[in-house]
Amino acid sequence: MMNETLRQRLQDGVLVLTLNQPPVNALGNTLRKALVQAIETAQADPQVRAIVLHGAGRGFSAGADITEFGQPREFPWVGDVCTIIENCDKPVIAALHGMALGGGLELALGAHYRIAARGTKLGLPEVQIGLIPGGGGTQRLPRLIGAAAALDLMLSGRHASVDEAKRMGLIDRIATQDDPLEEACTWASEILAQGGIVRRTRDAQALGDSAPSLAAVEAARAGNARKARGLFAPFQILDAVKDAIEQPFEAGIQAERARFLQCVDSPQRAGLVHAFFAERRVRKAPETESSQPRPVATVGVIGGGTMGSGIAVALLDAGLQVIMVERDDASLQAGRQRVEKVYDRLIANGRMEVARKEAVLQRFTGATSYDAFAQADLVIEAVFEDMDVKKAVFGELDRICKPGAILATNTSYLDIDAIAASISRPQDVIGLHFFSPANIMKLLEIVVPAKVSADVVATGFALADKLRKVPVRAGICDGFIGNRILYVYREVASHMMEDGASPYEIDQALEEFGYAMGPFRTNDLTGGDIGYATRKRKAATRDPNARYVRIADQLCERNWLGQKTGRGWYRYPEGSRSGQHDPEVLALIDAERAERGIQPRTFSSEDILRRYMAAVINESANVLHDKIALRPLDIDVTLVHGYGFPRWRGGPMHYADTVGLDKVLADIRSFEKEDPLFWKPSPLLVELVERQASFASLNQLI
Ligand code: NAD
Repeated sequence: MMNETLRQRLQDGVLVLTLNQPPVNALGNTLRKALVQAIETAQADPQVRAIVLHGAGRGFSAGADITEFGQPREFPWVGDVCTIIENCDKPVIAALHGMALGGGLELALGAHYRIAARGTKLGLPEVQIGLIPGGGGTQRLPRLIGAAAALDLMLSGRHASVDEAKRMGLIDRIATQDDPLEEACTWASEILAQGGIVRRTRDAQALGDSAPSLAAVEAARAGNARKARGLFAPFQILDAVKDAIEQPFEAGIQAERARFLQCVDSPQRAGLVHAFFAERRVRKAPETESSQPRPVATVGVIGGGTMGSGIAVALLDAGLQVIMVERDDASLQAGRQRVEKVYDRLIANGRMEVARKEAVLQRFTGATSYDAFAQADLVIEAVFEDMDVKKAVFGELDRICKPGAILATNTSYLDIDAIAASISRPQDVIGLHFFSPANIMKLLEIVVPAKVSADVVATGFALADKLRKVPVRAGICDGFIGNRILYVYREVASHMMEDGASPYEIDQALEEFGYAMGPFRTNDLTGGDIGYATRKRKAATRDPNARYVRIADQLCERNWLGQKTGRGWYRYPEGSRSGQHDPEVLALIDAERAERGIQPRTFSSEDILRRYMAAVINESANVLHDKIALRPLDIDVTLVHGYGFPRWRGGPMHYADTVGLDKVLADIRSFEKEDPLFWKPSPLLVELVERQASFASLNQLI
């Protein structure tokens, strides 16, 4: 029957089992049971001499059924299915196409032979949702491809291509056709003709001598000490691979199951699962549901500075045609060099071939006249952050671009409605707010002005997809979602600093919480001048009675801008990137406290964290209240992917729910007594506490 979850077809002694659970052949309970039954029946059936596992539709299998997350787990588990497949004494061949991910790849590891079509993505991404591969993957993969390669795949969760998979021995053959089924069946007959040897992955010998394999585990542990700080699952993966080296297969499988269950119970798993679903849901906005995107093949970029060059690389990497326009030949040359530098670094690290760089740059052209944009489908402006300059640029675009071309700005703060109103086609104007470095950072705020057409917004989302970015829909306000919240938590950090916490204590408290870098270290990395410019711009509208901490400005006045000037909040002797505490900065802070008559007090890490998070959560609630973000989860994704908020904590809104909104509000009210101008409880937060509701309840609305 065609609609069965597992289709079966017997031909010339080869039983083809086709997973048929659209859209991605997730390994739900029904399919797992069907597989077990089919293999057991085949085992006993003398007509079946070999088995081919295959997937219907888009791919082999994307692994676990995410709709079963959080529900009681029913037997058989994926691991049981893999063991039954592996134990079968008739050869089992996995024929892979599209994707073999997570439990899907584990099934293939349970098979005795693997063939994959070009374009198949292979990987074990469980770590990204706080898990380890729990279907025998941690024990079979290292035995098949060695400890170092297995750890690389499992700790990153990345996808390997078929070429890489073939090189590392993860698959045996690359199919010549898009659907590998026919070749798998032919191969099955060949295997039978040669005696039908069953080759179990558990018996593979890639771990070889234990000493180098154990050294690979320890090297990976050292390499992940910083990257995976605070995380639970990566260290379980490391230990599981150590088990694979030191223990018999069965014991390793038992230990893997125990580790898997510990991961399931870990609180960070809830944060990671929230982040996982949030990252998918942000891709849908009202406009993506109502409209089709406009086609985009050629993109213009104005400005070849920090952002323009990064945006150009992101576009080139996605296979688009890019035209960069700069003010003059020298600036254009500098812009081109910035683009080339990205590829040269990849070449130097052995991650790109010179010929590939040349091929990519074939799609890159430069010009000093906007006339070059006549045929562009989309133009992204990344010139100086100055309204008059931006309006002049948009005036030129209005004159030159073809009808229907999308005109985007990468402004961080300026009013895009005002830019749109200054030209004759406001319906085509949108904000595409990239983050630096734009070819690396995943976040893309899609900033939606009042007059923009829905299909232009939908195109922004489609572009993000093409660039493999995480889009978040934002409304217009000063700083949109991310920078608006950033401004407030930077303020609270400077208040705490003036009141007695050192910048180093504040950074440490936040790094212990899970940020890769605290706010002062981050400031040194991005450059103190950016915040300085923002503060100067806001000076005119600032409430004269509001608290203003001058210390950051004093650093900027001394040209202590951070890493690029060798010192900022930290000192960076001779280009070093890990900063040292600076007694002169502490002296400057002391002097300012004395001047203002502030008696410094002590802040514990807990005090620092509570104030900082209260500021983040309160401003996030304001952003929601003002309808700048669609849902709390959009803020979570913004802060995780653009501002270093630890992903395993889910994001600030998810974190707030875990702390309890009543507790957060109580903190804010107590801080309000010290500084009522800064600490105004957000009306939305107050309302939620009154209703005893959570931020999560608002995620359901759209
Ligand atoms: P930048 O100074 O590094 O680069 C600006 C470039 O624009 C320069 O190369 C300049 O020659 C060019 N330019 C100026 N006027 C031009 C014109 N009329 N025509 C063509 N080229 C022109 O600045 P940046 O950091 O890349 O920032 C650019 C924009 O991106 C700003 O709006 C900024 O707010 C925004 N932004 C910056 C960051 C960041 O972290 N730097 C992040 C997000 C957004």
